[in-house]
This record gives sequence, structure tokens and C-alpha cells, in this order.
Amino acid sequence: MRNIEINIGMVCNNRCVFCVNSQVNAAGRRWVSKERVVAEIDRAAARGYHALGFLGGEITYYPRAVEVIRLAREKGFTRISLCTNGRRLARQEVLDKLLEAGVTRFAVSIHSHEAAVEDRINGRKGAFAEKLAGIDNLVRAAAAGHLRDGVSLNSCIHGLNWNRLTEMARFFRARGISDMRFNFLRPEHQAAGNRELVPRLPDAVREALRLIVENHRHLRMTITFGDIPVCLWPPSFLANAAFARRYIGEFRDLDTDVSEFRDAVVPHRFNWRRTRSTTLKARLPVCEACAAARICEGPWTKYVAIWGADEFRAVGGVKGAEGAKGAKDRKGRKGGGTARERGKVARGTRA
Ligand code: SF4
Repeated sequence: MRNIEINIGMVCNNRCVFCVNSQVNAAGRRWVSKERVVAEIDRAAARGYHALGFLGGEITYYPRAVEVIRLAREKGFTRISLCTNGRRLARQEVLDKLLEAGVTRFAVSIHSHEAAVEDRINGRKGAFAEKLAGIDNLVRAAAAGHLRDGVSLNSCIHGLNWNRLTEMARFFRARGISDMRFNFLRPEHQAAGNRELVPRLPDAVREALRLIVENHRHLRMTITFGDIPVCLWPPSFLANAAFARRYIGEFRDLDTDVSEFRDAVVPHRFNWRRTRSTTLKARLPVCEACAAARICEGPWTKYVAIWGADEFRAVGGVKGAEGAKGAKDRKGRKGGGTARERGKVARGTRA
């Protein structure tokens, strides 16, 4: 399914410590006009996209949200998702309007199950309580059949939660959540160069594996991890292709194009996976001889700036050279091949 995300502007009621939006100055905090969003929806519909998401900024504060969501539904998009911090969904009437307009899926950003941590990450006291109320409303809406494509929680793995991922999943499972995504933090804003906020990847992977065991034994949730280089997973994990495909998020994600308005006027359009792998992540010397090079995006460049590159190891031997060559053959586009390629290489990493 072809997916497009439209950024509706950099206005947000949070000031998350690692969010690029938090770096935007007051002049840059403005909404994209409804006319420009509508033009992007029309363009996406004409180009054959079926899934459309809105991100930002905080969509639940966008004054034209209901109108553009309704238009997307009328244009035939079958999956309409909102990426939100969830705070405003504490108000049932806000959620009801968005559902009535046509939203089929919510992805709520929440980064801890502890109020003090979440409020600190959000830069807003009371944010956690509002988010919980919003999540409870969403769980009820999904149970009533109003969210065809479900509810997921999007969580960053950061320096204040990396050793409590299992407890976090247990907490939200008990509240009715069955789908969680954990992305390793991209070290931006206050997290750039910050060893308190950016944990080491091997530590995070150890805790991710603890959660995976708990998930198989008890939780039985849809859980995926993103932005963790393939070689950080143990060989025994990678040897099980079904496990890798189930838990490595990049093997399951929709390929997503993004439209954003840098100056709120001119659309900047890009493929998120390609941009991530070519401009935000590092290609290391060891990656050149790695069998996973075609599908692995590598670590965040700013992670390597903090912790160095000693943790990364080429996966495989002879197959690695083939993988690196394949990556180069893709006109310099490293990592993040097609879903089919990602599945193949996952199988190729069998010990
Ligand atoms: S491409 Fe680089 S970062 Fe990715 S698995 Fe291979 S060595 Fe590790």
C-alpha cells in the first residue's frame, strides 16, 4: 500500500527534549494553509496513494483538521492516520470529531509509563495524565469498532526508559494497548551530544530482547523496533527469519513519502526511508563488507558522534561483499531496500 504523510506545520503544545520541532523559533511555528494541504491531498489521490497520514506539529490543534481529514476520505483514501502526542484526545468531543471526519488509525507518541519521565521528555507538566486519558479514549473507540486500522503507541528508546521497556509494555498492555513501536532515539535538539538522553545501542538491544521474551510468554502484542542496525541483534535472533521479520520494524513498515512545507509555501517532497538512510544515518567502513548493507540503514550519524563506531560489525562474510555491491548499485542509495529485498536479506543472515 502506497503511503503518504503530509506535514501540516510546526505548531505543537509540547516541547519535547529531542524533537526537531522544538528547535523551531516562534516565527517558524505556523500552520500550513488549508489550500496547500488540499492541493497535496489532490495530488496524492491522483498519483494512486491509498494511505494518507497527517503529522507535524500537533494535528489535533490544526484548525482545519476536520476539513482536510473529511476531504481525504471523500477522495477515496482507505487508511487515514494521525500521528499525535495524544494530549488533546483526553477530550472525548475532540476525538469524536476526528473519528466522524474519517480517521482510521492513531499513532500516539509516548515515551514512558512514568509521569515524571514523560512530563520531563515532553517539557510539559501534566502531559502524561492527559496522554493516558487520551489513550483510554482511543482504546474504547477501537473496542467499539471505530478505528479500523487500530491504535499504536510510538515510543523512543532514550536514556530515561531504555532499561524499562518491558515494564512500559506491561503497563500499556494492561490499559488495552496491543501495538507498540520502539524507535531508537535520533539524537536531535537537547539529545544531540547528550549521553544522559542517548543510551548505548547494545544496552537497549539487551532490554529489547528481554521485552521480546516477555511478549512471547505473556503479552502477545504487536511490538516492533526501529532504527537499530541489524548487526546489533544477536546472531541467534537473526538466524530466526520469522523473529526478525516480526520484530525488526523496517521489515514491516509501509514505504512512506512525505510532503512538508519548509517555508509553509513550497512543498518539499521526499521518501522518508531514503532520506533517513542517505542523510541522517552513517555508512561506516565495516558496512562495506556487510551482508545486511542492502537493508540496514546503519546508525544515526549523531549517535556515532556520541558513542563512536566500535559496536558495529559486518554481518556475514562472502555474502557481505554481495550486499555492499548491491547497495552501491542502487545509485548510492544505501540501506532500506524494498520490502522483498529486506525479507531476502533477513533470510540471508541465517547463521
Ligand atoms: S550495514 Fe553497517 S550498521 Fe548495518 S548491520 Fe552491517 S555493519 Fe552493521
